[in-house]
Amino acid sequence: MYLPSFQYVAPKDTGELAALLADHGDDARILSGGTDLLVQLKNSGVKLDYVIDISGLDELSGISHDDKTGLVIGSAAKLDDIMEMPEVKEKYFALWQSIETIGARQIRTMGSLGGNICNASPAADTPPALVAFNAEVTIANGDKERNMPLVDFIQGNRKTAIKKGEYLKSISVPSPKKKSGSAYHHFRVRGGMEIAMVAAAVAVELEADNETIKDAVIALGVVAPAPINAEDAAQKLIGQKPSEDLLQKVSQACADISKPIDDFRASAEYRKEILRVLVEEAFDEAYAQVAGESK
Ligand SMILES: Cc1cc2nc3c(=O)[nH]c(=O)nc-3n(C[C@H](O)[C@H](O)[C@H](O)COP(=O)(O)OP(=O)(O)OC[C@H]3O[C@@H](n4cnc5c(N)ncnc54)[C@H](O)[C@@H]3O)c2cc1C
Repeated sequence: MYLPSFQYVAPKDTGELAALLADHGDDARILSGGTDLLVQLKNSGVKLDYVIDISGLDELSGISHDDKTGLVIGSAAKLDDIMEMPEVKEKYFALWQSIETIGARQIRTMGSLGGNICNASPAADTPPALVAFNAEVTIANGDKERNMPLVDFIQGNRKTAIKKGEYLKSISVPSPKKKSGSAYHHFRVRGGMEIAMVAAAVAVELEADNETIKDAVIALGVVAPAPINAEDAAQKLIGQKPSEDLLQKVSQACADISKPIDDFRASAEYRKEILRVLVEEAFDEAYAQVAGESK
């Protein structure tokens, strides 16, 4: 398949980007790394007048970390650059794991975090990990900005909260608490070139005794049109010390609220079963990162 014809524009700053979106928002798509968009343009027959390339905008490509404000990632920051930042592996391990699993090096070198989120594929790897960290997004429209939790930003299959004239500016991930750990586990059969069938991310914080769970977030991926924050299931962990029985109840609660698809790759029933395993595995890995620490 060939690409349809369109006009390619590369704004020199976010002011020009805002003006282009205001003028052509209905007939334009943003291109960041193009690893999703160009495939879709070739295969879907979508016709557009403009493709607006934001990959050269330094204002949208920064990555910064500070213990107070946390991690702030520009929407056009490349997946590989995020992964290479030592603080990401050290403090946001589930996010690091979710990026490491994406495609191959070539894809992570071109692909951006903003693209992975805005594409809003139910199978995208980074959104569940970001939900586990209570990440927020900043959406810009000219000089105006608005923030919202990432879990509200992704509204369904290929559907986000972005309105005409807006673009995703950045993703903010709060700094994890001192006694906390996180993990992202996913299931696929053929490695990086296949999309995930089921995924779960868990973030836990422990009390000073290094055993009792003070706080927990469980995010489920690929088992609904958008990532799920399994709040009721996570609530069961709080104030408890882990046991096999407790984890079975928590993972069952996750399976109960999931709504996976039923297709040729796996039945919905099988996906729910795998989800239970992934939630327990991700919890065990996140918990083990802190449970052994000195008090
Ligand atoms: C071979 C291959 C393997 C892959 N493997 C995986 C995988 O394992 N896991 C996975 O999750 N993904 C995978 N992907 C999908 C893709 O690589 C990722 O989703 C990537 O992060 C997309 O980023 P991008 O910058 O290339 O997005 P683009 O293709 O540039 O954009 C994607 C969508 O987001 C919109 N967009 C981008 N930035 C913004 C913004 N700032 N504001 C508003 N809208 C915006 C675009 O208009 C477009 O609709 C794979 C892709 C390929 C081709």
